[in-house]
Amino acid sequence: APAAPKYRRILLKLSGEALMGAADYGIDPEVLGRLAREIVELQNDGVEVGLVIGGGNIFRGAGLASAGMDRVTGDHMGMLATVMNALAMQDALEKLGARARVMSAIKINEVCEDYIRRRAIRHLEKGRIVLFAAGTGNPFFTTDSAAALRAVEIGAELLLKATKVDGVYDADPKKKKDARRFEHLSYDEVISRDLQVMDTAAIALCRDYNLPLRIYDITRPGDLKRIVQGKAIGTLVHG
Ligand code: UDP
Repeated sequence: APAAPKYRRILLKLSGEALMGAADYGIDPEVLGRLAREIVELQNDGVEVGLVIGGGNIFRGAGLASAGMDRVTGDHMGMLATVMNALAMQDALEKLGARARVMSAIKINEVCEDYIRRRAIRHLEKGRIVLFAAGTGNPFFTTDSAAALRAVEIGAELLLKATKVDGVYDADPKKKKDARRFEHLSYDEVISRDLQVMDTAAIALCRDYNLPLRIYDITRPGDLKRIVQGKAIGTLVHG
């Protein structure tokens, strides 16, 4: 019999760049479809799935600001980029027969629902995948922080951060052959060693509310499902 999921409710953070595939901008429909299939598989196993998608494949406030734009305006554009990504993923999930709802931290009611915590939890209980869009709704934050915040708010048992590396290393594994992967790290180690797992605000939130965080390689099909079944893949950051 297939292994039962270990977690009842999870929050998965995908960067905007995860949707680009080999391109350097935008969304690759094939990559989007593959990610959507992996997410729907979790849901079919009875796991409640919340998703936060970044916007870095389209706009980042910091990048726009360094090109001369007002930072807050740039951050608004970055948040709107996350809404576009969430809409694309909602569409891909629905194409596979799953039910999904985009909930935005910024009101854009013609496009998606507002984020209302109790309604989000209701969607999850009814088996809908909830896509938390527009980050925290505030400039000067990131979607990593939004992911930690929403995970704590909805009582997720695990926060998963998908990256292109199979965990957290003590040095860049692409540059140093003998770079060592951590299997476990404490929140404070991540912060004091400045390991760039997520921004410090996000890690601090995980630490303060004792939310376990696992970093894994999104390019390995099946790992997401195995992690949710309880396999120790990637790096676990915990108390
Ligand atoms: N952003 C923001 N507030 C938030 C979340 C995101 O202002 O709470 C903006 C910010 O400009 C950020 C952009 O949206 O650069 C895209 O998010 P992020 O950089 O976290 O995306 P990722 O790197 O995960 O693709």
